Amino acid sequence: MPLASFRVALLLSLGLLSAAAAPRALGQQVEDSIYGPLPVFEFHSGFWVNLHHFLYHEARAREAVKDSRVAATRPAGPVLKQSPASQPTLTPAEQRIWDQAVAYYVSSYAGKDLLVNIDLILLKNQLGDFEDCNELTGRKKPACDAGLPGNVGIILEAAAPIYRAHWWADHDRANRRWVVRVAPLVREQGVGLSQRLADIYQSKWPKEKIRVEVCAFANSAGAYTTLDPLRVTIASTDPRNQGPEALEVLFHEASHDIARPVEAAITRECRQRDKPIPRDLWHALIFFTTGEVLRPIMQEAEQQNAPDDDVSPQRNTTTTVPPGLREKLSQRGWEEYSRLLAIYWQPYLDGKVTFEDAIARLVSAV
Ligand SMILES: [Zn+2]
Repeated sequence: MPLASFRVALLLSLGLLSAAAAPRALGQQVEDSIYGPLPVFEFHSGFWVNLHHFLYHEARAREAVKDSRVAATRPAGPVLKQSPASQPTLTPAEQRIWDQAVAYYVSSYAGKDLLVNIDLILLKNQLGDFEDCNELTGRKKPACDAGLPGNVGIILEAAAPIYRAHWWADHDRANRRWVVRVAPLVREQGVGLSQRLADIYQSKWPKEKIRVEVCAFANSAGAYTTLDPLRVTIASTDPRNQGPEALEVLFHEASHDIARPVEAAITRECRQRDKPIPRDLWHALIFFTTGEVLRPIMQEAEQQNAPDDDVSPQRNTTTTVPPGLREKLSQRGWEEYSRLLAIYWQPYLDGKVTFEDAIARLVSAV
């Protein structure tokens, strides 16, 4: 198995994953080698991107421990536990280097948001681009000089052997297991869903496959998307991204790019009405739409797993929101958006009103 990372989908498609590398995925490999690469998405399990997100996660966990100690009213008060992933025993020398790397992430990145901070976005993209390199500073191979800012390249190179020795095998296995599980649905439904969503959003699905960085850890939301270039990062170990939800998170994240015409239309309608642009309406609309478009597939997946006599009740009106989706929206404080989307956006999804009318009515009702 190469030390550097690799393209999961490609390797799966070529049947190149060794039994030692992915002992539990053998059945799927044969199938994948017959049917070829997946449509729509391109999955990566990159070593550097995984190390980067893990260090970011560790740095934030350490900060959280510190904060909880400061906030504790009693000295023996509860302290946030560090992730179970930090359990392996390191040698004193390894521990020192690892602590230095985490400390660097604490001071440089832990206070910044992976989704919006430009330094973190550029760094993440560069680490993805250099996934096939064993180094980042180009000391052995000039083509592997990633030109990273500050000392982060040196820090990551120093932490790399420790990560590889203690965590990477588990993280990589979790990533590949996640891809293998979502692959059949992407293969069956990917093209149809991408066309349907692009039509809904009056947009075009990108010609290139969307690059997905599959990582053991992502941000606190469990997945995030950065634009120009469009790249999705998904946490393979996050409970919110498992089962049929894996397909939903993929298409939700891709919609952050595809649904840009909706954001523009909401802004335009608000300006015409001299209204403040409702924060998160666009995001709530993406949740709602992805949920609606994927609902038949999710129901089918649930029914396949359910006993024969357990038939889910069918939704019979257009102004109610299915419970799972309602819960997702209300967790974010979007109950009102959810209600309005069912009234004004659902008719558009059902082909009863135009895109422009639906957005105009939605915006005037907010
Ligand atoms: Zn989102």
